[in-house]
Amino acid sequence: MILRIKELKLRPDHTEQELTNEIQKILRLRGETPEYEIVRRSIDARKKPELYYVYTVDVTAANPRALLKRIHSNKVTLTEKREYAFPYDKKRMSSSAGAEGRTDSGTFPPVVVGSGPAGLFCALMLARAGLCPSCWSAGKPSRNVCAR
Ligand SMILES: Cc1cc2nc3c(=O)[nH]c(=O)nc-3n(C[C@H](O)[C@H](O)[C@H](O)COP(=O)(O)OP(=O)(O)OC[C@H]3O[C@@H](n4cnc5c(N)ncnc54)[C@H](O)[C@@H]3O)c2cc1C
Repeated sequence: MILRIKELKLRPDHTEQELTNEIQKILRLRGETPEYEIVRRSIDARKKPELYYVYTVDVTAANPRALLKRIHSNKVTLTEKREYAFPYDKKRMSSSAGAEGRTDSGTFPPVVVGSGPAGLFCALMLARAGLCPSCWSAGKPSRNVCAR
């Protein structure tokens, strides 16, 4: 088990030490240097011209449960480390579409509806897997995304 800290907000010009300090403060580590991994970093531009990085970090601790008990922060949760595994096998799937639009494996290329960040990232993962997705969205037309 690991401790996950969400909504860690820092200015874009922050140093690595400032991020470490913030983790120490939230976990009340008092001088102990935390071992952590950044699992997400987004930009909060909702209050332009003020910009912030918003981090999610996973902290490795000897006894995460005990540490969590003495912290009173809704930013911290106990979680299990899980690696994302893309559910397609690149070797089995092919990017080349046949006359009917089918791929070599006999399936149709995937269609992603919605070209927001989630749709574009989904299309990127599918394209990297060689599945030649089409991306559709309401509003202006988006370009076909393909890994060929
Ligand atoms: C005012 C505002 C400010 C924000 N500022 C920030 C910020 O500074 N930082 C940050 O990280 N996040 C910010 N967010 C949040 C961020 O915009 C969302 O978290 C993010 O856009 C969600 O991405 P998504 O791909 O899931 O959905 P969306 O971005 O909503 O994308 C969905 C897309 O699918 C399309 N779509 C929906 N239905 C259909 C359909 N039936 N057929 C075809 N197309 C369809 C939509 O037109 C849209 O383009 C802000 C949100 C708002 C509203």
